Amino acid sequence: MIIVLKPSATEEDIAHIVDRVTGVGLSPFVKRGTERTIIGVVGDERLLASVPVSAFSGVETALPILSPYKLVSREFKQEDTVIDVEGVVIGGNRLVVMAGPCSVETSDSLLSVAEHVKAAGARILRGGAFKPRTSPYAFQGLGMEGLEYLSRAKEKTGLPIITEVMDPRDIPTMVKHADILQIGARNMQNFRLLSEVGTCSKPVMLKRGLSATIKEFLLSAEYILAAGNHRVILCERGIRTFETATRNTLDLSAVPVLKSLSHLPVIVDPSHAVGKTALVAPMAKAAVAAGADGLMIEVHENPEEALCDGEQALLPKALTALMSELRQIAHAVGRDL
Ligand code: PEP
Ligand code: MN
Repeated sequence: MIIVLKPSATEEDIAHIVDRVTGVGLSPFVKRGTERTIIGVVGDERLLASVPVSAFSGVETALPILSPYKLVSREFKQEDTVIDVEGVVIGGNRLVVMAGPCSVETSDSLLSVAEHVKAAGARILRGGAFKPRTSPYAFQGLGMEGLEYLSRAKEKTGLPIITEVMDPRDIPTMVKHADILQIGARNMQNFRLLSEVGTCSKPVMLKRGLSATIKEFLLSAEYILAAGNHRVILCERGIRTFETATRNTLDLSAVPVLKSLSHLPVIVDPSHAVGKTALVAPMAKAAVAAGADGLMIEVHENPEEALCDGEQALLPKALTALMSELRQIAHAVGRDL
């Protein structure tokens, strides 16, 4: 439910409403606008029946939020969410490119690729320390050691770090190294993990599940917001279809759909969507044209030797070339890069 307050509502009115709503076990979120304050209320809606909200002093109207997801919806918040990650703004007019290797391999190789992607214009460094691999015999990532390497690369380049968290038990250590916590596609519906990152002070990038509908995707994001963390970024990374020519099928229509249903920033990961180096650039360009707020792209200096996802990695020089094309497309759609 959204409680719209009168312009004349006082701080006492707000405190009283928050108190009553909290008292029946619901969670209120107060948003102070320039003209009006609204209070979003989420939780078991049956509990609301015992609170005569419309009768409270300062209340103009109380409206139900009709979508199944509440806090992530445009109904709850009309203006785009803009997230500041160590000075890099995600969701504003300027697009952001997150780039780096699929997995952290050695400290030297990470540092070298970090310097290259920075020079190309990427503003966030990606790299997995904990890798969700289909086979238990495949390289699982360097774990905590990988996090140390990421911190070292940040120290040297100044690039904020995004890295995947797979296990709630790792979160206390991960927040010391990561600037954005990534929830991978395979964990999109790991609800305990979602609630746990929802209590963190770090922004979270949630990747769409392999077979998730947009409704399921947004409901997963809702778990994070409902736990208190409103700094969530959505990432379309391809879904499973009958098509086998590409690793997954990049659902580009998800970009305008998500942007219309939700106020959260939307990033596109063409690398995992297509799974082939040659297809990354065209889909990255299409994503910018479709209105994405940024891209996540895998880059490796020696894809043949990569421990993970070498077949979809761009060489640093290919990223540099792509960036200048992306810039032109960004300008054509009224954005900066
Ligand atoms: C990744 O970004 O490293 C990754 C594993 O991606 P996804 O979860 O989208 O498969
Ligand atoms: Mn990968």
